[in-house]
Amino acid sequence: MSISISAKAQNETLDQKLSATQFSIFCALFFVIFYNSSFFETVFALVDYSTLRGFIFIANISLVLWLFTSIIISLITLPYIVKTIFPIVFITASIVAYFMDAYGVVIHRLMIQNVAETDFSETRDLFNMSLVLYVVALGLLPALLILKIKISYEEFKTECWRKTKFIAIAFIGCLALIMSMSMDYASFFRNHKNIRQMANPLNFIYAGLSYAATSNKIIEVKPIENDAAINSFGKYLAKPTLFILVVGETARADHFGINGYKRDTTPLIAQQNIINFPKVTSCGTETAVSVPCMFSALGRSGYSDSKAKSQEGLLDVINHAGISVLWRDNNSSCKGTCNRIAFEDMQRLQIPNICNDRECFDEILLHFLDEKITAENGSKVIVLHQKGSHGPDYFYRYPDDKEVFTPVCKTNQLQNCTTEEVINAYDNTIRYTDYFLNSTIEWLKTKSSQYNTSLLYLSDHGESLGENGLYLHGMPYALAPKEQKQVPLFLWLSDDYAKANAINTECLKQNNTLAYSHDNLFHTVLGMLNIQTQIYNPDLDIVKPCRTSMGN
Ligand SMILES: [Zn+2]
Repeated sequence: MSISISAKAQNETLDQKLSATQFSIFCALFFVIFYNSSFFETVFALVDYSTLRGFIFIANISLVLWLFTSIIISLITLPYIVKTIFPIVFITASIVAYFMDAYGVVIHRLMIQNVAETDFSETRDLFNMSLVLYVVALGLLPALLILKIKISYEEFKTECWRKTKFIAIAFIGCLALIMSMSMDYASFFRNHKNIRQMANPLNFIYAGLSYAATSNKIIEVKPIENDAAINSFGKYLAKPTLFILVVGETARADHFGINGYKRDTTPLIAQQNIINFPKVTSCGTETAVSVPCMFSALGRSGYSDSKAKSQEGLLDVINHAGISVLWRDNNSSCKGTCNRIAFEDMQRLQIPNICNDRECFDEILLHFLDEKITAENGSKVIVLHQKGSHGPDYFYRYPDDKEVFTPVCKTNQLQNCTTEEVINAYDNTIRYTDYFLNSTIEWLKTKSSQYNTSLLYLSDHGESLGENGLYLHGMPYALAPKEQKQVPLFLWLSDDYAKANAINTECLKQNNTLAYSHDNLFHTVLGMLNIQTQIYNPDLDIVKPCRTSMGN
């Protein structure tokens, strides 16, 4: 008799089921405790928890986070959904927790877009053992537990009613908590608007839905103006123009020797007769924003991803004017800016000494470029899209013999290296970029008998290297530190180009301390190529004030 009773009790324990509401509450608590250390670190940094009021506020915001997470979890706690969606949510939350804890990143729609538009080599660059541990402990184990858990659901109507009641009560609870300390919340959010982008898993669920809502639309690309043509000035130049636009990656202005950095990271371009612009800001803090923005006529204030994708950009206008354009890429892609022009993916090539089994160094962008030039007559624009200083594994971006600053951080877990090692590795990438840019200028010089040659170099965004605990880039623009927004920009003009286009280079050098931005690129390039079109805005052309003659 006693044996059968204890066997029954054991069976009941095994069969014990959680109601859907209980599951939502426990699951939310688990998320709040184990996946939100960055969230709480920020809260503790901003609130004085030694005072009673501060302590109560922290308790209050923790409860609000728990209740709000419970509401969202309860919305997806449905038969069949739990066993399929929740394992994915846990694994994603573990990856998100790793990147927030390790690099101080926050999760927003553009970050999701960046992830969606990245390629295998960029993903591989981020892979390491700590990430594996996070995924196993906070992703796979909870996912397995979810598959084992039994949840009891009531009959459909009763379940709906229960859920509605729970959500209503939790929502009122949230409101009451917030209202009870509304002043504290107001000042807290004023100082830290992006805290909601740190609440895991709400941040990526919201960002993912918002990205899905905007990215699936079929976009018709409209021509911006059909009037692009070479102006009367450009038509009568004795030689065609060969213009190279180098799109840099993750290069921050203050680590360039030519911008006054304490280290000589740019010894070679400093010897070239360049016109340097030290005060330039980027359109975004990540490639997925900056690159489409700088090639669009929208400018930073008018830019949105959907607007940029639905209209033609700089390269289309150049093409319409009859100049051939080639985009050579050693990065993940041109982010839609080169969809209607010639494109060469250079990072997949296998050229000894320039490429290894993981990637190619930026020199690959010059490989067989001579052959591309002899193919057609007329003016040409070549865009070279660098891998540049893409992190976190900066040490992979340059060949061993170009390692000048040591010791170097040799892992993608930057938080495990000293600041000095991280900066050394990063500075080596800038120094290699200097070598690459110098080689490009030297190559252009070899074409100067056939063409009027010129080059413009501009980086897409900067990089945080541990300042205030931040690494990498991609912070929301309004909150991003200057390190992520200030980018290098310089021009190199051959003597023939400057002379033929009536450009006073000394005048440009005097204007170089004015503040410029990515907004200037579109109009400066059109001006430099003597393209006339309604969309050209001479006020944004950096070179125009120093031209003594121009057809526009
Ligand atoms: Zn970038």
